Amino acid sequence: MKRSRLVAGNWKMHGSRASIAALLDELVKANPSGCAVCAPFPYLAQVAERLRGTRIAWGAQNVSEHAQGAYTGEVSAAMLADLGCRYVIVGHSERRQLYGETDALAAAKFAAVKAAGMTPILCVGETLKERDAGRTEAVVAQQLDAVLEKNSFENSVLAYEPVWAIGTGRNATPEQAQAVHAFLRKKLPQGTSILYGGSVKPQNAAAIFAMPDVDGGLIGGASLVAGDFLNIVKAASI
Ligand code: PEP
Repeated sequence: MKRSRLVAGNWKMHGSRASIAALLDELVKANPSGCAVCAPFPYLAQVAERLRGTRIAWGAQNVSEHAQGAYTGEVSAAMLADLGCRYVIVGHSERRQLYGETDALAAAKFAAVKAAGMTPILCVGETLKERDAGRTEAVVAQQLDAVLEKNSFENSVLAYEPVWAIGTGRNATPEQAQAVHAFLRKKLPQGTSILYGGSVKPQNAAAIFAMPDVDGGLIGGASLVAGDFLNIVKAASI
């Protein structure tokens, strides 16, 4: 089964109505296929509106594990689906590290996204300390297994994001990414796309995407610059 290529931008907590309008204008002008942008909640309606009828998909960066109820400040999967959302990032290392999200919580959020008919992008990845201790495979396996215990991974996307490579300018080498992707692939249904994330830039994207088990990327910083993001998307579609 041929795996889909995907380059997803994670805008994190960046942007304004004006800057997002300008960024979307540039993206829509090029209108590439095989890409998505994951925007902050307040701008999702703006993104949905601007991308309607284009080839560019969009997603959210987080979701509540609960279906509905008295959860002040939370956003449910049904609300995102109602807006036409396709992708939801689950278990990003910033959520795990800064907000204490556990493997169990990531699994519950993953289930909520699937139940609402959207596609989760589950993030897994080791810290530098864990890599140096030779624990990379054990760590990513534990993060993925927590989700697989409770969910089918059909129609879902995995992103391998070594924590030491996120926002640091220090990307994993193509060979390091390939080794972990090949390990993770053995646990997944055939046809699952596995993205690499961690300081992907136009300069290093092609070499990383050329690896046989790398199906695209999850892009943070470089996704905020239209030209850089479009060049990364182009590198994935070759
Ligand atoms: C990310 O936040 O998922 C990410 C990969 O960030 P960056 O590309 O900035 O390292």
